[in-house]
Amino acid sequence: MSNDAPVKKKRKFELDPRLAAYKGVWVFIEHERGQVHPVSWELLGEGRKLADMLGVELAGVVLAAPGEGQPFCQEAFAYGADLCYLMESPVLKDYRNDPFTRGMTELVNTYQPEVLLLGATTQGRDLAGSVATTLATGLTADCTGLTIDLDNRSLAATRPTFGGSLLCTIVTLNYRPQMATVRPRVMGMPERQEGREGRIIEHPLAMAEESIITKVLDYIPDDTRDKPQLPFADIIVSGGKGLAKPENFQLVWDLARVLGAEVGASRPVVQAGWVELDRQVGQSGKTVRPKLYIAAGISGAIQHRVGMEGADCIVAINNDPNAPIFDFAHYGIVGDALQLLPALTEAFRQKLATARRAG
Ligand SMILES: Cc1cc2nc3c(=O)[nH]c(=O)nc-3n(C[C@H](O)[C@H](O)[C@H](O)COP(=O)(O)OP(=O)(O)OC[C@H]3O[C@@H](n4cnc5c(N)ncnc54)[C@H](O)[C@@H]3O)c2cc1C
Repeated sequence: MSNDAPVKKKRKFELDPRLAAYKGVWVFIEHERGQVHPVSWELLGEGRKLADMLGVELAGVVLAAPGEGQPFCQEAFAYGADLCYLMESPVLKDYRNDPFTRGMTELVNTYQPEVLLLGATTQGRDLAGSVATTLATGLTADCTGLTIDLDNRSLAATRPTFGGSLLCTIVTLNYRPQMATVRPRVMGMPERQEGREGRIIEHPLAMAEESIITKVLDYIPDDTRDKPQLPFADIIVSGGKGLAKPENFQLVWDLARVLGAEVGASRPVVQAGWVELDRQVGQSGKTVRPKLYIAAGISGAIQHRVGMEGADCIVAINNDPNAPIFDFAHYGIVGDALQLLPALTEAFRQKLATARRAG
């Protein structure tokens, strides 16, 4: 192209004046049986950054049974919220799509936030979809990065696309609120600030139980509760297809046992039936954020990487010096995992025994 070619001018974005009143970043505080899902705190940490960039307040949104919500609000302040919108009603005792959608949309229409974040959990995904549809606004699901494009005061939400081979950044310019969901452990946990205070804005919900089609008849605890809790493990030893045979995967279990770690795996290992699906790390598995992630015989494909790159320290063992995992691992060991895993297990065993003897 010649230097004289006409330069296409970027059209200046103008926000629909009717949307200018929308201000503030909101985080849905998800809870069940008195327990707040940790993804809510992770989102408050991220929301704090977005609110500071926009120069607005960060709010938690608590929908709960009468008398249940106040402690959740106090906890939200400790994790960075400036205020909480609290809606309490008997119909909000257990999560159901109808009353939660009605409650959330009523709060949005009344107080007009510009950004609304929810966890990409079963509850969060269910609620986000119906709230976005009811409000006819944009929702970006399963985001891996959130920031503000200050040129047009827009939420820029990044997520994998095309089977995870590309990352795209999505903006919903002329819609409010701009909604996004984020999977647990994708964002870091903010520091809890004991004694931090905020305001509570109470808002009633006028909705009768008779108008709700769904009824809660019983509570059956999730039978996956005792299954591997990879997203919250501090140490994970993960094995990949490079271990060649299912018998060799025992070397991963051995090292994990000595380190008190959880066991993870790449997708081909799960597909081959060497370990159960709950242990798959990556785009179509779990997102993890341990202090230490040891990857043995894993190439580091983007679909695996997006699930574990938030680890504080990644140690990769691979016999190919050009394996992609070495591009982002903090420590790389080029060598045969079948020899290195038992050597590490033995070295850690001895180290721990010495430490125990020394008291
Ligand atoms: C839509 C979609 C979703 C996906 N989701 C996921 C997901 O959630 N998680 C996931 O993991 N993958 C996922 N994948 C698959 C992903 O693209 C890769 O195919 C996969 O991660 C590769 O697994 P791997 O590294 O174990 O195996 P391979 O790619 O076969 O790599 C094996 C590695 O081991 C090394 N190696 C071989 N022998 C040894 C040895 N003796 N010692 C040390 N190293 C050795 C090799 O050099 C190689 O780097 C997805 C793919 C798609 C299309």
